[in-house]
Amino acid sequence: MPAALRAQDDPALSSQAQALRVLLGKGRVQTIDAQTFLYEGRRYRGTAAVLPETGEVVSTVPIEQYLYSVVSREMPRSWPAEALQAQAILARTYVLQRSNPNRDYDLVPSEADQVYTGVDAEDAQTSAAVDATAGKALRYAGEFASIAYSSCCGGHTESSADAWGGKPLPYLAGVPCDYCKDSQWYRWSQSLAFEQLRAALGTQAANVGDLQSITLDPPDASGRPLFWTFTGSSGSARIKASDVRRAAGTRVLPSLLVRKVDLQPTLQTASVDGAGLGHGVGFCQWGARGLAKTGAVSTGILAFYFPGTTIGSS
Ligand SMILES: [Zn+2]
Repeated sequence: MPAALRAQDDPALSSQAQALRVLLGKGRVQTIDAQTFLYEGRRYRGTAAVLPETGEVVSTVPIEQYLYSVVSREMPRSWPAEALQAQAILARTYVLQRSNPNRDYDLVPSEADQVYTGVDAEDAQTSAAVDATAGKALRYAGEFASIAYSSCCGGHTESSADAWGGKPLPYLAGVPCDYCKDSQWYRWSQSLAFEQLRAALGTQAANVGDLQSITLDPPDASGRPLFWTFTGSSGSARIKASDVRRAAGTRVLPSLLVRKVDLQPTLQTASVDGAGLGHGVGFCQWGARGLAKTGAVSTGILAFYFPGTTIGSS
């Protein structure tokens, strides 16, 4: 993640005043009025301009208005208000970290940043959560915190350093969480085809030969084994768990919190038992829902998943 900005160094970084530039892509723009336009038939708040070098459309939109659309795409609108408010604070923190005056735009409108599809995605519940938290962002040691979130941690959130390397962050070290039990992905069993496993082995598949067993490394502090060892008729290969997940597909292998892998050679499959959906770092969305149902407020939910952080107005 990029270095956090120092909000206090720049008064213009108030999210209530600041505009954000979203790269929409190459498409047709029609102005509706001074505050709204159509891009490829979809209604967006703000204004649109075309980059002369690339012909791509960049929308300039006030941060809080951008959040109306984003929060409703990132968390179901029917969830408790305090969980939606926690999500709104995180989405705002993410945006404030990525404002980049040295580039033609700040964000893209997809999962690479946050899903942004304009006015039609907006909803009264999620917009109320944005308004209730207006300007609030998560901070650590005076800077915007590096935030991450995923659907269901499966029982323990993951440390950012174990997931992605880099310097360990004290507020992203991982916490036990069983508040996400209502997710259908809290526990799962999936079947992986041998051909998906061979894809994970890549060029090493030939060295392994006919697959005979898979063993998992001892898990990290959150319970996630970070390497899988494939043993076959010709040899063995130790492969990063994240590479296995990428090769199999993130829906086939919903998380890296894998507890057991059993090969079933006659079926040419491996049955895999695991927990959670997503990378598990930071905020557990189903956990926030569970915590809110026990009466926790948004600030308490964020303090639970990001210990040591504070929430302040940007
Ligand atoms: Zn959880």
